[in-house]
Amino acid sequence: MSTKQSRSSGEFALVTGASSGIGRAVALRLIEDGMHVINFDLNTPAAINPHETFVKVDVSNESELRSALANVSAQHCITRLVNNAGIVRPATIEHATTADLHAVMNVNVAAAIICAQSLLPGMRAAKFGRIVNISSRAALGKAERIVYATTKAAIHGFTRTLALEVAADGITVNAIGPGPIATELFTSANPPEAPATKRILETVPLRRIGKPDEVAHLVASLLDERAGYTTGQVIYVCGGMTVGLAL
Ligand code: NAP
Repeated sequence: MSTKQSRSSGEFALVTGASSGIGRAVALRLIEDGMHVINFDLNTPAAINPHETFVKVDVSNESELRSALANVSAQHCITRLVNNAGIVRPATIEHATTADLHAVMNVNVAAAIICAQSLLPGMRAAKFGRIVNISSRAALGKAERIVYATTKAAIHGFTRTLALEVAADGITVNAIGPGPIATELFTSANPPEAPATKRILETVPLRRIGKPDEVAHLVASLLDERAGYTTGQVIYVCGGMTVGLAL
C-alpha cells in the first residue's frame, strides 16, 4: 500500500449531496483515495459504491438532519466533512421572496453549520479534522442570483470564523468556490442557449465549462492529512474567471 493510501485508508468522510454532480465526483474520488463515504442526499445515487453508506436525508430539515448525524456519529469517527449540497433559486432583488431566502439558506448555510456542530466533538477528540465547504464564485457577485450569492458569501464568513475556532484542535476549514461546472444544477439555472450562459463562457479564460472531477481534486487535496497548514481560505476552481471580470 502506498503512503498516500495508508493516510486515509478506512477513514470516514461525510459528503452532503453526494448522489449527483460535484458531490458525486467528490465521493468517488475520496473512495479512490481509500476512504469510506457517508452520503446524505435526497435521492439514491445511480449506483451505490461498496465503500459508500447512503443515508436518505433532507439536509434542510433540521430535526431529520440532526438525527441522521447522531446516528452516523455514534457508529463512526468521521474526521472529514464536505458541505456540498446546494440549491439555487435564480432571481433579481425585485423577484426574490423571503420563502426563497429561507429555503436556500437552510440548504446552503444552516445545514453546513449543523453538520459541523455535530461532527466537531469527534474531530476534537481525534485532534484532527478537515472541513471543506462548497461555495461559489457567485459569492463575488452574479446577476439574478441575489439569494444564492448571499448564502454563498455567508459560507465564507462561516469558513473563516470556524477556522479560527477549531484551529487549536488540528482541524482545518476551507471553502472552494467553483465557477461554471457541468452539472444538473448549473445547466438548469444556465440553459446552454441562454445569452447569459454564452456571456459566462466568454469570461472564462480557459474558455470551457469545468468538470466535477476538477473540483473533486481540490476537495481531496484539502481533506488530506498533509494539507494541515491551509485553513480559513476560499479557493476558486473557476477556469480563471474570478481573476478578471465577474458576471
Ligand atoms: P447538483 O448537481 O444539483 O447536486 C446537488 C446534490 O445535492 C444533488 O444530489 C441534490 O439532490 C442534493 N441536494 C439538494 N438539496 C438537498 C437537500 N435538501 N438535502 C439533501 N440533498 C440535497 O448540484 P452541483 O452543481 O453538483 O452543486 C454542488 C455544490 O456546488 C452546491 O453547493 C452548488 O451551490 C455548488 N456550485 C456549483 C456550481 C456549478 O456550476 N455546478 C458552481 C458553483 C457552486 P437532488 O438531485 O435529489 O435534488
